[in-house]
Formats: sequence, C-alpha cells, structure tokens
Amino acid sequence: MKKHNFYAGPSILPEFTKEKTAEAALNFAGTGLSVMEVSHRSKEFVAVMDEAVALVKELLKVPEGYSVLFLQGGASTQFLMAPYNLLDKKAAYLNTGAWSKKAIKEAKFLGEVVEVASSADTVYNYIPKGYEVPSDVSYFHYTSNNTIYGTQIPTPEVDVPLVADMSSDIFSRPIDVSKYDLIYAGAQKNLGPSGATLVIVKDAALGKVERPIPTMLDYTTHIKAESMFNTPSTLPVFACLQTLIWLKENGGVEAMEQKNIEKAKILYDEIDRNKMFQGTVLAKEDRSLMNVTFIMTPEYAEFEKEFMDFATAKGMLGIKGHRSVGGFRASIYNAMPVESIQALVDAMQEFEKMK
Ligand SMILES: *Cc1c(COP(=O)(O)O)cnc(C)c1O
Repeated sequence: MKKHNFYAGPSILPEFTKEKTAEAALNFAGTGLSVMEVSHRSKEFVAVMDEAVALVKELLKVPEGYSVLFLQGGASTQFLMAPYNLLDKKAAYLNTGAWSKKAIKEAKFLGEVVEVASSADTVYNYIPKGYEVPSDVSYFHYTSNNTIYGTQIPTPEVDVPLVADMSSDIFSRPIDVSKYDLIYAGAQKNLGPSGATLVIVKDAALGKVERPIPTMLDYTTHIKAESMFNTPSTLPVFACLQTLIWLKENGGVEAMEQKNIEKAKILYDEIDRNKMFQGTVLAKEDRSLMNVTFIMTPEYAEFEKEFMDFATAKGMLGIKGHRSVGGFRASIYNAMPVESIQALVDAMQEFEKMK
C-alpha cells in the first residue's frame, strides 16, 4: 500500500533526494567509495559543499555580503549561537510557540530579552499582531513557521534587523534576505535529513558584541573555514544539495509557493467543510502552509482515535497532533505530492459518510 508521509520532522523528502543519496551512499561521484567514507577535504566533497552554498544563494537570491553555512547542532544550537554573536545588550523576541520559547531561554543567558508579544494564552493558535518592537535592540527574533501549532508569519515590518528561525518553512516561499541579519534552519523539515543546519548570516552584523565567543559558537570561525572548521555532516549536506537541485529543477521557491498555496487549500477547505473536523488556527491569514493542525469538532470528539486508526489503515503516517495541541497535524512540506493530500481528504470524507 502507498504510504503517505505526514511526519513533522524528520519528514518527507523528494524521491530525487533519496535516490541520489542512496546511490552516493555506495558510490559517490565515481570514487567507488561511499560519501560517508571520503574526506570532507576531497575535491569531490568540497564540490558538494560549494554547490550547495551556491544553490542556496541562487534560490533565495541572497545578496552580496552574506555568508551561507552548513553547521551541526540543529536549530537548537542556533538559539544560543544567534545571541552569542549578535545580542549586544538587549534583543526583542516574539513568542509564538515552544521553539520561540526555547530561543528566548537561550538568549537570556546573554542579555536582556524583551518579549514583545505572546500567544501562549491560547496554546499559540494565532499570531500576535500590533506589537511594538523597541528601537534600541540588537535584533528582533521570530519563528517564521510554528511547526507544532500550525501558524506561519509573513516577514514582519519592523525597523530593527531581523533574526528568524525558518526551520520548517525555509525554501517554501521567496523571502527578502536583505531584511535579515540571520536566518537559520535545521535541515530535517524541508531540506534534508537531520544533522545539517543551514545558516545565512550578514557579515556586517558580526563583530559588534564585546563578549568573547567560544570558537565553535563563533560564526566567523565557520565563515573563514567555509563550513569545514570541523568535519561537516557530509551525508546530510550531500542530501541537502540534492533537494536544492530538485528545487531548482522544479521552478525554485516561487513555484514552490504557488504549489504550497494550492496544496494547503485542498486540506483546509476540507477541514472547514467537513462537519467532523475543525482547524485549530482560526484566523485564516495565520494558517501555516506547511503544518496543518486540526481536531475533531466537539460533537464528534469521541471518534478521534477511530479516525486515527482509519487513516493509518489507509497509509497515512505521522498525522498525530503534537501532545500540546492534540488532534491531528498533517505536515505538507515542499516534497509532499498533492496525491497524498487528496488521499487524506478522501479518508476524511469517507469517514464522515460512515458516521
Ligand atoms: C524542529 C524545529 C526546531 C528544532 O530543530 P533541531 O534541529 O531539532 O534543533 C526549531 N525550530 C523549529 C521552527 C522547528 O520546527
């Protein structure tokens, strides 16, 4: 039976990425060796890193004066690295969920954090608006897509440099990189396997803080060494490159955005139509195109487990909602084919008819 992969992360990857990575796991670039067993300083692997960096720059139209890095430690390490390198005395943070909260916790080790707004009061089911960002902060940090709660944020209009955790929507839509001092993303949502973290940092934003920065946490270390200060995660970076190639061949982030809008509409329309289900995010403009969260309506709450079993039997994998939200979450990243979304919608309609 066809499996439909709705996991939130690690999550679905293009067939192209999996096939190319599987080939390279046995015979990488004609070396007769696995990509896992050649030196990261071999000309073959250096070419992988160079091409991956070049494609990130091309696809996101990264302006001059920015560095693109592939690091390790996940977005969670960036929660600390960002303030270590960029927070002088004070930074502003928008609290839209568990990941924002974790980022705030780390920033507090290094300076004052102004939490400009929070949607914690209603389990983060909306994006706060109309908040003020103080002008005397080093940056304003936000989470562009809240993987757990199913909310997404357009680039905020503020007068201070932006820092964004884009782990779960990077490459899903165009962004104006020039507005940011720093963008970071764990690879395992929309780019590749876990083990690689993409960082895009404005060079001119660095070197402004007084504190000494431990070598591995200092962006300049990795910029100088072109992401090879220590051994990079070679296989994950190789896989990320394949996804970047796939993205380019499929029209880049502009085409992805169109597809993502169409894909998400199919599912949200069904959630809004079907009497058994309701979305957890009520304001339509706040709804994520990547993680669609929904629950049973109160009248049908007793059927939650039954629907889960029903959908699972039809090949839907990973649709259980995060424990803090409950219900269901369908993660429909770039690589998710519309057929899988249709299969979920069909299952919802069939279930409705049975009741
Ligand atoms: C998954 C996720 C993280 C955590 O990433 P790690 O790579 O596991 O550290 C952080 N932020 C967001 C928005 C995520 O979706």
